[in-house]
Amino acid sequence: ATPAATMVGTSIGAKNGVLFKGGDVLERAKDVDTVVFDKTGTLTEGEMELTDVVPLDDRSATDGGTETAADGGTQAIGGDAEPATDEIDEETVLRAAASAESGSEHPLAQAIVDGAEERGIDLADPEEFENVPGQGVSATVDGEKVLVGNRTLLREAGIDPEPAVEELERLEGEGKTAMLVARVPAGTSDGRLLGVVADADTVKESAKEAVAALQDRDVTVRMITGDNERTAEAVAEAVGIDPDNVRAGVLPEDKSDAIDDIQQDGRRAMMVGDGVNDAPALATAYVGTAIGSGTDVAIEAADVTLMRDDPLDVVKAIRISDGTLQKIK
Ligand code: ADP
Ligand code: MG
Repeated sequence: ATPAATMVGTSIGAKNGVLFKGGDVLERAKDVDTVVFDKTGTLTEGEMELTDVVPLDDRSATDGGTETAADGGTQAIGGDAEPATDEIDEETVLRAAASAESGSEHPLAQAIVDGAEERGIDLADPEEFENVPGQGVSATVDGEKVLVGNRTLLREAGIDPEPAVEELERLEGEGKTAMLVARVPAGTSDGRLLGVVADADTVKESAKEAVAALQDRDVTVRMITGDNERTAEAVAEAVGIDPDNVRAGVLPEDKSDAIDDIQQDGRRAMMVGDGVNDAPALATAYVGTAIGSGTDVAIEAADVTLMRDDPLDVVKAIRISDGTLQKIK
């Protein structure tokens, strides 16, 4: 493009809240044949709300057989001194989850904390807080270790998520992000499931229109997310993305490889994301686009920054590049 054309494109972009990092990006964007959207905060508002708290009954407790030689012995009085059931209620589940999550800045965590506070639950200060990216958190709450997160987080702690799977799948089928809550009593390695909590996000108003507009231009639209398959597919369906084009359960550090895979056979992908987690993927993509409330890290790694939170601006970016969006407003 001539310097004059670049100047025009750049200025149309700026007036539409579409910032190109230089003239070559402005040129490149029109050749994108695949757009990969991150789910949370990109296709969805990223503003989670706590929707469900489901206590699990005592069937999930580890009973018998798995006592560990190392630390199981001292407290065992033997026989039937323990009550048969140990009733877990909603408040117990939510208080444990929210106390642990109060150490996290993740939108999923904040929704749980806000939800607990709205329900008048007093939270404990978490100790030894640990954030496990793409999986959840663990922290000591009132002297007991509490885990909140996905199946992988629990499995790695030696806790079988199976008793909660039916609940998880029901909630995920509704497009919610469901998280397991488990507790490991001090001095033991016998974790038990307490229950499930779920957050819901809302799909952005213009997401469906943006996907359709891209597909109309023969651009393949894909979605990538760390969230689980069921939730991801419910969101994909809501915005018109083919379930075959969804990659779920992608760890933050693997997002960039996922983009590489897509670009393997010469495809030119635009990755659209908002989070810190997305920065390497933004850098790998033919065009990296940071959207809206994007973090500084994402903006730095991106070639294009969309100032608004509107997925339709992805279409605008491509149209500015190919010269079909000329109106300055
Ligand atoms: P996304 O790619 O959708 O932004 P993340 O990579 O941040 O998702 O997280 C992936 C999954 O890990 C979440 O769907 C959730 O199951 C789990 N997870 C991450 N952070 C937390 C947290 N603070 N509390 C509970 N679960 C979490
Ligand atoms: Mg994210």
